[in-house]
Amino acid sequence: MDMAKRITVALAGNPNSGKTTIFNMLTGARQHVGNYPGVTVEKKEGLCKYKDYEITLVDLPGTYGLTAYSTEELIARNFIIDEQPDVVVDIVDASNIERNLYLATQLIEMNVPLVLAFNMSDVAKQKGLLFDIEQLSRLLDAPIVRTVGNKGKGKTELLDAIIATAEQGKEHRAHRVGCGEEIEEELAAIEVVVADNEHELADKYGTRWLAVKLLEQDSDIAAKVHSQQVLDAVKSSSEHLKGIFADEPEIVIAGRRYGFISGACQETIESTVESRHSASDMIDAIVIHRALGLPIFLILIYLAFFLTFKIGEYPMGWLEQFFGWLAGAVANLWPAGSDSSLRSLLVDGVIGGVGGVLVFLPNILLLFFVIALLEDSGYMARAAFIMDRIMHKIGLHGKSFIPMLIGFGCSVPAIMGARILENRRNRFTTIMVIPLMSCGAKFTIYMLIIPAFFPDKWHGPALWLIYLIGIVLAIICIKLLRLTVFKGETTPFVMELPPYRMPTLRSVCIHMWQRGWMYLRKAGTIILAISIILWVAMSYPKPSQDSLSGLSPEQAQQVRLEHSVIGRLGKAIEPALKPLGFDWKIGTALIGATAAKEVFVSQLAIVHAVGSHEAGAVEGADEPGGGGQTLRQKLQANYTSLTGFCIMLFCLIATPCVATVAMTKQETRSWSWALFQFFGLTALAYAVTFIVYQVGSLIMG
Ligand code: GDP
Ligand code: MG
Repeated sequence: MDMAKRITVALAGNPNSGKTTIFNMLTGARQHVGNYPGVTVEKKEGLCKYKDYEITLVDLPGTYGLTAYSTEELIARNFIIDEQPDVVVDIVDASNIERNLYLATQLIEMNVPLVLAFNMSDVAKQKGLLFDIEQLSRLLDAPIVRTVGNKGKGKTELLDAIIATAEQGKEHRAHRVGCGEEIEEELAAIEVVVADNEHELADKYGTRWLAVKLLEQDSDIAAKVHSQQVLDAVKSSSEHLKGIFADEPEIVIAGRRYGFISGACQETIESTVESRHSASDMIDAIVIHRALGLPIFLILIYLAFFLTFKIGEYPMGWLEQFFGWLAGAVANLWPAGSDSSLRSLLVDGVIGGVGGVLVFLPNILLLFFVIALLEDSGYMARAAFIMDRIMHKIGLHGKSFIPMLIGFGCSVPAIMGARILENRRNRFTTIMVIPLMSCGAKFTIYMLIIPAFFPDKWHGPALWLIYLIGIVLAIICIKLLRLTVFKGETTPFVMELPPYRMPTLRSVCIHMWQRGWMYLRKAGTIILAISIILWVAMSYPKPSQDSLSGLSPEQAQQVRLEHSVIGRLGKAIEPALKPLGFDWKIGTALIGATAAKEVFVSQLAIVHAVGSHEAGAVEGADEPGGGGQTLRQKLQANYTSLTGFCIMLFCLIATPCVATVAMTKQETRSWSWALFQFFGLTALAYAVTFIVYQVGSLIMG
């Protein structure tokens, strides 16, 4: 005969959830009542024999959480940490589920082998609550058993679940209760300091849990910490977070736990009778409504983009004027008619390059402001919730949607924004396709091409189509990536629904600024450097003076460019670009666009020998150039509308700009992924444009 296998099980649960009833149901008369060491809190232990197991059950004090505020909660949590029971059973009052699951989130945070008993399931049924137990169990990463304690229902199912969990042993959970980007960043920082300075505590409690408790100002854990570094780190993190949230970190973290629960319940519990009351729930009833949710979301996003561009036009105009003035002022430092390289470098290279990018800053800041507003108020979580069902179909998490949305502004902060995805596969897949979202810089290219080649009434639809093509391609790429390099199951995640909050201006501005700063830095460093390199490549080697004699300034500029490194490169790749309908001039501009997509427009102006003053006239196309033609007229004269469309298509898909490549490298911590993205997208662009051009040429004869 086998020896009985012994396991220890702790019963946790809110007061009145039916813990004692379940305890009695399992142990019958085999009970022993004592006290927890040092305190007069009753400790009941009992024995239960089942199959070939001898199960020792311990009835923990009833608690709502596992803080250090009350003796009961401390006892419960110390028992779990010190005695390491094989399984913790959380008795949940299923008729009052959201409140009861709070304790469960804390047990999940402690990473204990957990079984959930949904007790009072008879009462829950009377209340009209319908559970999708399987899905909820996947989301919480713990088996769930329905019980009716006072009727003895669910006993064997509960015991089977206990044994299965005990046999499985301690495994790492697939997911955890996330605390949001800012808090997660601080937690990660604290974890590092804790791991370095408090080895014993880190071994016993785990760094993550310690970091959470320290941020929550848990007095019991704080008293155990000796290292001043740790205390200092916690203090500075906590000050930082207070500045952002205007609230104690522990309150924000508790809000996150409720958000986690709320999200999990929204997805898995249906109520046949109306019983939700809080303001948050009432807003959610409309905002994430099955039919209304998506239209509301689309309208909000449309408004966000519309306002961004409408309001942004004014400061953009001022900045354009400012840079125009600056270029003129700098140029005037040299005597009229002189041909100084330094002047050209400063005016055309530096001011033209960096200024061309900086004029979009107001637009981008506004977009980030709106996005931060949506995020901080809690709406973005709802947007992710709505998108989750759709995103799941293509193998991603609803949250991936947020960085993609930011991608319509600029890929650089968008790739950074992908940090909200905890799962590496999801995060990398998202990062890879973000450049397919038409960013603000690509928008300038569309604004040049569309009016040149499409009749008025087609402007809107053409723009819409090109954005849509990006999205559709992104979906196809995600599918492909998930089938190949990022193969693997998508684990179901809880879509958190944190309570709605009034966003603080300070926090919204911090968010806006952090992302805006990334953009500014890109302009100040990478784009500055590339602008200078491009300028050199465009200016040297110089043709001989005789070859320029008798030419207009514009024609001379064109000859110089043809003679330069870039012009030659453009010509060298011309054979490869022919099948796409591009000539060397477009090739030259495409090379320039690698620095920043905006550069495409100014490069194209130069190769077509359009005076620099008309080149900037992207908005007012009909403005008569001094005797010459505007860039749009030149384009119309030289290319077909099919080529025009192919230019947009290629610019949309190909070669993410250097700033994007740099950011991908930073966020994936690998050059291979950055290069994979760069060459993969370029190859895709080539293939798609090739097909469109060839098929298009056939059809159009
Ligand atoms: P504890 O505070 O968690 O130990 O809760 P108790 O075990 O003392 O139970 C509180 C009350 O709920 C008692 O009156 C039980 O009879 C009742 N109870 C326990 N389980 C159930 C159940 O599944 N359904 C119903 N309707 N009542 C239950
Ligand atoms: Mg009791």
